[in-house]
Amino acid sequence: MDLRKIARNLERERCSKHNETPKATPKKDTIEISCCCEDFRNKLTKKMQIEITKQVEEDIKKAFKF
Ligand SMILES: [Zn+2]
Repeated sequence: MDLRKIARNLERERCSKHNETPKATPKKDTIEISCCCEDFRNKLTKKMQIEITKQVEEDIKKAFKF
């Protein structure tokens, strides 16, 4: 799983209220998000979880391909 790739995707998002971009820092097994407001943070956290789930599924598919 490539958290850096997910972090880059998150940093491309923009807050609809404040027009700000977030800062996403990949950590060991999560991504630290700092951004302008709580609503945007919640939105990004949801997106992050969806992206991580997708990556895990891809990793499993790759592992079972033979
Ligand atoms: Zn905001």
